[in-house]
Amino acid sequence: MSKKYVYLFSEGDATMKNLLGGKGANLAEMTNLGIPIPMGFTVTTEACNKYYDDNKTITQDVIDEIHTTMNKLEEISGKEFGGEKNPLLVSVRSGARASMPGMMDTILNLGLNDKTVEVVAKETGNERFAYDSYRRFIMMFADVVMEIAKQDFEEILHEMKEEKGVELDTQLTAEDLKELVVKFKEFYKSRKGEDFPQDPREQLIESVTAVFRSWDNPRANVYRRMNDIPSSWGTAVNVQEMVFGNKGDTSGSGVAFSRNPATGEKKIFAEYLMNAQGEDVVAGIRTPSPIEELDKQMPETYREFIDIVNTLENHYHDMQDMEFTIEEGKLYFLQTRNGKRTAQAALRIAVEMVEEGLVTKEQAILMMDPKQLDTLLHPAFDTAEMAKHDVIATGLPASPGAATGKIAFSAQEAKERHEAGENVILVRQETSPEDIEGMIAAEGILTVRGGMTSHAAVVARGMGACCVAGAGSVKVDEKKKTMTVNGKVYSSDDYISLDGSTGNVYAGKIETVEPEISGHFGTFMGWADEIRSLKVRTNADTPHDAAQAVKFGAEGIGLTRTEHMFFAEDRIFPMRQMIVARTEEARRTALEKLLPMQKSDFKGIYEAMEGHAVTIRFLDPPLHEFLPTQAKEIEELATELKISVDELNGVITDLHEFNPMMGHRGCRLAISYPEIAEMQTRAVIEAAIEVNEEMGWSIVPEIMIPLVGEVNELKFVKSIVKKTADAIIAERGAKLTYLVGTMIEIPRACVTADEIAKEADFFSFGTNDLTQMSFGFSRDDAGTFLKHYYEKKIYDFDPFAKLDQTGVGQFVQIAVEKGRSVKETLKLGVCGEHGGDPSSVNFFHDNGLDYVSCSPYRVPVARLAAAQAEVRNPRKK
Ligand code: ADP
Ligand code: MG
Ligand code: MG
Repeated sequence: MSKKYVYLFSEGDATMKNLLGGKGANLAEMTNLGIPIPMGFTVTTEACNKYYDDNKTITQDVIDEIHTTMNKLEEISGKEFGGEKNPLLVSVRSGARASMPGMMDTILNLGLNDKTVEVVAKETGNERFAYDSYRRFIMMFADVVMEIAKQDFEEILHEMKEEKGVELDTQLTAEDLKELVVKFKEFYKSRKGEDFPQDPREQLIESVTAVFRSWDNPRANVYRRMNDIPSSWGTAVNVQEMVFGNKGDTSGSGVAFSRNPATGEKKIFAEYLMNAQGEDVVAGIRTPSPIEELDKQMPETYREFIDIVNTLENHYHDMQDMEFTIEEGKLYFLQTRNGKRTAQAALRIAVEMVEEGLVTKEQAILMMDPKQLDTLLHPAFDTAEMAKHDVIATGLPASPGAATGKIAFSAQEAKERHEAGENVILVRQETSPEDIEGMIAAEGILTVRGGMTSHAAVVARGMGACCVAGAGSVKVDEKKKTMTVNGKVYSSDDYISLDGSTGNVYAGKIETVEPEISGHFGTFMGWADEIRSLKVRTNADTPHDAAQAVKFGAEGIGLTRTEHMFFAEDRIFPMRQMIVARTEEARRTALEKLLPMQKSDFKGIYEAMEGHAVTIRFLDPPLHEFLPTQAKEIEELATELKISVDELNGVITDLHEFNPMMGHRGCRLAISYPEIAEMQTRAVIEAAIEVNEEMGWSIVPEIMIPLVGEVNELKFVKSIVKKTADAIIAERGAKLTYLVGTMIEIPRACVTADEIAKEADFFSFGTNDLTQMSFGFSRDDAGTFLKHYYEKKIYDFDPFAKLDQTGVGQFVQIAVEKGRSVKETLKLGVCGEHGGDPSSVNFFHDNGLDYVSCSPYRVPVARLAAAQAEVRNPRKK
């Protein structure tokens, strides 16, 4: 039997998301639940993939199946597609597996042509409505399918309104709209060189193809990369009988959330517009009314609406985001999905749903996107500072957070100035999908028009960006690059600050304060900790970072780099003396000066970690990094070092390497200059002994040897560490346990991990180096060419941000297996950036690692990701 590419809504259900896309699967599920939705069918994501496999053509077998299913839809609806009586009109809607709001365009009123528009006019007795629908269809079809800009049509509409002396679209008469349709068609022909297509079947196939094509548009590609959506998923297309919200004063359409998406409050939050088609609400063209108004206008419809919203939330066990349309008093639902929400709202909803008994703790844990926690871990405005600034305008609190920056008036400008290192606030009349890159680049977004469900609001909440929407008192002049509020003019050089939780807009720059984990956030993270088995440590080089990480729940340090502190002003000199030393003796003299500094750093870190494990990595980078490059600085340093410029230049030349990342670094330094390892051991051990004594703790320091690729390297450095450490411990009569382990970051170390494990107390995967060594390109250089890889779809993701599980992941698996085969209890951790990336954390959990370690601000993200991994694949019995 040949493959089925088209499903009626009545043939699917919610489990078929991969095939039918999110929208299609939920339309099918709602059909099964008996919720009033207009009937229709879904062309599958497999058909989309087939379209790309077949060189961007939609093949005849798929076309035939669409037509046959359309015949069935005609039968079910009792209407005829393109018919001279009772014509069937449909919408064509995209819908991928994961929701991609606003990324792909919808076509409404398809099936209208010069004849059917007349039939609709007669049958409804509403000529105005018929022509209003037709002009909308021409515009959408031209825009989405034929790539003629919507704005051009908007302009024609605008001219018409001026000519007729009216302000609102709704004030145009049927005759006006008829005229408008003629103008639209003429414009279409002038652009396309052919008439607007009159055959509905042709309109349909063209539209389905356009949706497939839009899967690959630049906006969609940017959004996908930001949200980890692989291009191989494809999008489905939904074809659905139209219902009309623009049929007059008993019709309308709107958007609803079963709980408040900004705060999480358990209260239905919905907005609607009378006499409008759905897009009008989302586009922020008119300001919508709150749903409570509907109770006054149509109490029965209102009650039915509330019932359905509650039914859907209870059915899906999650907050729902829904679209609805009322046609002459009759209510239809057009879409439901798990609603996007702010991080604050997500936490409140998850915690309250557990308290209500609607979901279990495990289910609640899965409801939160770990990356979203990020927004809560960043600073908010200092209340005292805030009081000193004037509120110049107030809009809707569309997406919380605090943002401060200079004003940018277009997405392009925001992007460019951000790249040049400026903090900017994007200020727009309203945003549209073209603005996405500018929205990502901006610290915050301010719009003049639009409600809580406008494009800006929805996208900002999705990204966790601060947004104030619909600040109507702000006048923006994009051309002049000015913003005027209450007669005062602000330009690109002025700072403004946005509070996304109150909707307040302030003049000037407002200082921010550090975040805290408390309230719903605290409760939720407590559950994550109860559930997870993977431990979370942090990468911290200073007591300050370590203390921050402990506040965020770090259970130890997985990586302290011992090089960053050598760049400090008071240390760089002895460090340089050490580097230029020609004899062991001279080197030891310099190291002698560094010892007390390292020791006090380590003491500070131990103290900040309050007795938790601390892993300290020995000196790792190539030494040339510590020397100056400018002639003037070289001269100054030579004088300071009391050597000649020539001699210093000689050292610099000696240290020059073609590929320093693969050069004299890591354990190779300790092999050339064992006295460095001796000094570092002394600093680690003495600091631990002293802090243990002072605090009554029993810290077990973990010494980590970097860049080992051969067991004999580890053996050699370890012997120095042991000799030095044991002598100090004996000399001081102290009791101290310490561990010596290694980083696993060279492919050869992975495949010989069974030998290395015999010498190592622990392994810590340095997945940054392991990634560069596996791929054979360096992280510092890859940026320039990886962008071509994304454009050409050779890679979907940045392998330095998200572990390449198929390749680099295998090295990790091999090392785990070989290491544990000789030492069952070998402690395994990860200290690369990947330790804070949710999908990578999931991989490390699945492969039996003991802990991940990441930067302090990502610790809560990793804690949640670890709990989610445990729920998906339990390790605890
Ligand atoms: P998006 O994914 O961008 O939200 P949708 O496919 O949901 O796009 O379509 C956008 C809007 O078009 C919907 O919110 C709805 O108001 C309107 N719409 C879509 N299909 C229909 C239909 N069959 N009848 C009436 N309105 C529709
Ligand atoms: Mg929608
Ligand atoms: Mg490394």
